[in-house]
Amino acid sequence: MKYIVLIGDGMADYPIPELENKTPLQVANTPNMDLVAKKGISGTVKTIPDNMPPGSDVANLSVIGYDPSIYYTGRGPLEAGSMGIKLEKNEVAYRCNIVNVESGIMIDYSSDHISSAEAGELIEFIDEKLGSEEIRFNAGVSYRHLMIHKDGSKSLQCTPPHDITGKKYEEYLPKGGGQDIIRFLMDSSLAILEDHPVNKKRIKENKRPGNMIWPWGQGLAPDMPTFAEKYGITGAVISAVDLVKGIGYYAGLDIIKVPGVTGYLDTNYLGKAEYALEALQGRDFVLIHVEAPDEAAHAGDINSKIKAIEDFDSKVVGTILNGIEGREFMLLVLPDHLTPISVKTHVHGPVPFAVCGTEIKKDNIDSFCESCAASSKIQFSRGYELLSYLISKCGK
Ligand SMILES: [Zn+2]
Repeated sequence: MKYIVLIGDGMADYPIPELENKTPLQVANTPNMDLVAKKGISGTVKTIPDNMPPGSDVANLSVIGYDPSIYYTGRGPLEAGSMGIKLEKNEVAYRCNIVNVESGIMIDYSSDHISSAEAGELIEFIDEKLGSEEIRFNAGVSYRHLMIHKDGSKSLQCTPPHDITGKKYEEYLPKGGGQDIIRFLMDSSLAILEDHPVNKKRIKENKRPGNMIWPWGQGLAPDMPTFAEKYGITGAVISAVDLVKGIGYYAGLDIIKVPGVTGYLDTNYLGKAEYALEALQGRDFVLIHVEAPDEAAHAGDINSKIKAIEDFDSKVVGTILNGIEGREFMLLVLPDHLTPISVKTHVHGPVPFAVCGTEIKKDNIDSFCESCAASSKIQFSRGYELLSYLISKCGK
């Protein structure tokens, strides 16, 4: 049995007046997702518990069957996982942005999307000057890096820098147990980064200097059972997004790199599907995560969201349906969460899913959309129960 999960990030939406009160999913031409709904069953699933933030990390944990209220420990450890960095049990991992501040104001959480090479040099310098037995820094991509704190505080409250753009950052410095050491590192970084040759060069080129570190999103490594332990199956994950790759890492899934994957509207949809089919040669499970619909929704761009959904449908869902024909399979398609165009960010609420396959019976719902799925009797209020249910139903 082959298990396939296809996630269109943030595809679900509210009815939009400009679309005659239809949703992008309803307006988009999606013959393949409709076929999944027609051949199989539809329903809704609540991927984000009411008391948790509506992030892709929380939602994707639910989708692959892990209760986020138990296993979600923060963004930092997931990103460490995606970088293949194994955390010890006592190590707290922070996302560490290289930010740009001026006169006490958070100007840019990304330092003008600083290049990986430049930021890498700055992080290396920070590690040399401020690193210790307890604290180390690992360079990542662009402005996104890691700070790992041995026996670090578990009660510190940090604020994502993208939430305080244009504000006085003083009020948003880390608060709680262990705040002094982290604040000291941040202050020290500000004192030493400004004059670094990389920043001097950036200032000359009229780019913003990356002149401060901003740690946040911290946590211990989640202590998750792997897919092999949980379901007795092997698998792989294909995504451009670090958080999703990190979840895959902790779930013991292979992380498959596909050339040309961007996380944006120009991503290599077809390559993702082709690599997924190949991954299934020697494995039982594959997850494809496509970020593009979410990006379009964050931008409030209705047409791009519809286009992203149509590309996901034809190039990913269609390619997989064709490739899997004649084999024993279960195929689940869904968004991880709602990203309504009108809100431009993630919100709570149940999302539609459709699943078809050898062991899946047929209901009377013939297309894939929010209201179609809501008309089903099948509604999973605990999102993490959906995949476990489907895998146990289909057998190995
Ligand atoms: Zn998402």
